[in-house]
Amino acid sequence: MPEFNILSHPEFWAAYDRDHIWHPYTSMTRLAPVYPVAEASGVMLHLADGRELIDGMSSWWAAIHGYNHPRLNGAIERQLRSMSHVMFGGLTHGPAIALTERLMALTAEPIEHVFFCDSGSVSVEVAIKMAIQYWFAKGVPGKNRLFTVKGGYHGDTFGAMGVCDPVSGMHQMFTGILPSHLFAPKPLPASKPWDPSEMDALTQMLESHRDEVAAMIIEPVVQGAGGMNLYHPEYVRQLRRLCDENEVLLIFDEIATGFGRTGRMFAYEHADVIPDILCLGKALTGGTMTLAATLTTAKVARGISADGAGVLMHGPTFMANPLACAVAAESIDLLLESPWQEWVTGIEAQMRRELEPCRSLPVVADVRCIGAIGVVETREPVEMSWMQPQFVERGVWIRPFGKLVYIMPPYIITGGQLSKLTTAIFDVLNKWGEKNAGLARQL
Ligand SMILES: *Cc1c(COP(=O)(O)O)cnc(C)c1O
Repeated sequence: MPEFNILSHPEFWAAYDRDHIWHPYTSMTRLAPVYPVAEASGVMLHLADGRELIDGMSSWWAAIHGYNHPRLNGAIERQLRSMSHVMFGGLTHGPAIALTERLMALTAEPIEHVFFCDSGSVSVEVAIKMAIQYWFAKGVPGKNRLFTVKGGYHGDTFGAMGVCDPVSGMHQMFTGILPSHLFAPKPLPASKPWDPSEMDALTQMLESHRDEVAAMIIEPVVQGAGGMNLYHPEYVRQLRRLCDENEVLLIFDEIATGFGRTGRMFAYEHADVIPDILCLGKALTGGTMTLAATLTTAKVARGISADGAGVLMHGPTFMANPLACAVAAESIDLLLESPWQEWVTGIEAQMRRELEPCRSLPVVADVRCIGAIGVVETREPVEMSWMQPQFVERGVWIRPFGKLVYIMPPYIITGGQLSKLTTAIFDVLNKWGEKNAGLARQL
């Protein structure tokens, strides 16, 4: 009898997976279903059981060009033939140079230096180290705390977790282990008119702690996984001024918003201000491989090197992985050669039109869009175990969390495909409301 090979039996994958593999934020005892994917191409995910789903998530902000793109595949294949990896200690290579050239051209002029690392969370760790080392080298070791706002998300490693929203970041589980940083109120939504007094509480906190604070870290204009909060660019402008006045470095986490997602190449361009340190990840490789980067100005880089250890104390094993750098450089070229701004503006206009009717549903609290990000906020947390299969049955991949049903599709999505996503959101939320109303009547 031939040996049983599970790889030729996708119908058993979900069960095997359930027995052994953790997924993001899951339990090993309260099991959530997973859908085996056999292939992905363009905007489509092809499930192993033959079903096809239009992807509304870009694999968490990353796959901006869609899947299986021949140009991105080609870049990896070409690089693979010369070398997949070499250590970055004492060595350098073409892909790192090529990607750096592109990042230097794309980012604001004062940004001159880059540190390549493995994931977004690690790039935040590096940003925090840069800020603390900067003040240490300047002879002000007491400036070693971080300042941020509530509602943020910066990653899952300990340093990054320390600046995530204290409630949704579950700080109470790690009390005494996470550093105690400072949290100003969450920025008010951009749907409300700008009110300068919004900065008062933050200004007061920053001024009274300026001697302890190394840096302010924030996601400019869009707070992503912490609640999909879209806030005023003016807030970001005021932050730059306050950080300068109080001698605090400003870190922008653009891991989610970078590479055109908000309609500008970087979200900080909406506010026309430049950070001291910039974190990039997610779409950096067009969703093909894991890579992130922490960029900074000559001021910060020279500062770190002036005194103290004199060197930036970080060095991942797979730093500047050549395959990842090669495909990232290609992804940026592809983006710049495309009419991405037109695409993103078109996606925004269509989502505004087609998601707006959701506002009339009793279960919906708010609808908001910026660039290629569309958000429907519900009044109560959604029932994932009911809702996820509803979306899959309608041929779309949308993965809500908490009270947020949101999409950020690949930029290449067609109008027809996007309509299928927005229609599915309306229909599923409508059905959810009717189901709950039915239950309420029975009670
Ligand atoms: C996803 C994300 C991170 C963490 O990136 P990973 O690659 O998942 O470690 C950090 N900050 C923001 C804003 C993100 O969206």
